[in-house]
Amino acid sequence: MKDECVFCRIATRESDASIVFEDEKTMAFMDIRPVSEGHVLVIPKEHYQDIFDIDEDLIGQVHKNAKKIAEGVKTAVNADGISIVQQNGRAAGQVIFHLHVHIIPRSEGQGRFHFRDTTNADRKNLDKIASRIKENI
Ligand SMILES: [Zn+2]
Repeated sequence: MKDECVFCRIATRESDASIVFEDEKTMAFMDIRPVSEGHVLVIPKEHYQDIFDIDEDLIGQVHKNAKKIAEGVKTAVNADGISIVQQNGRAAGQVIFHLHVHIIPRSEGQGRFHFRDTTNADRKNLDKIASRIKENI
């Protein structure tokens, strides 16, 4: 646990998040700056910076759960496709240095997305979408 890490604070529930899934070692919650409706992040609860820092079993569990959650997201928001993105290092576009996997619903004809174009979402809306996703996991 790193005090200054926003994802550690979510994992320990010191900070609020719209949580969609949790097991002993991983957690999934709505991205506060969604690229599209239903954008979820999956993290290991313990602090690992990136793919180079985490052990194979745990990254395996993170991605295993990402599959399960992606299926729930796809159904909940009726997505045509899902992008799975996981960035490692500043050069790769990583901004929060606690490993996370993005699950991003996509629609036909939507074109490319840029994380920098996002704005903070309304918590009530995120909670609503989170409960729809939970029902489908
Ligand atoms: Zn952390």
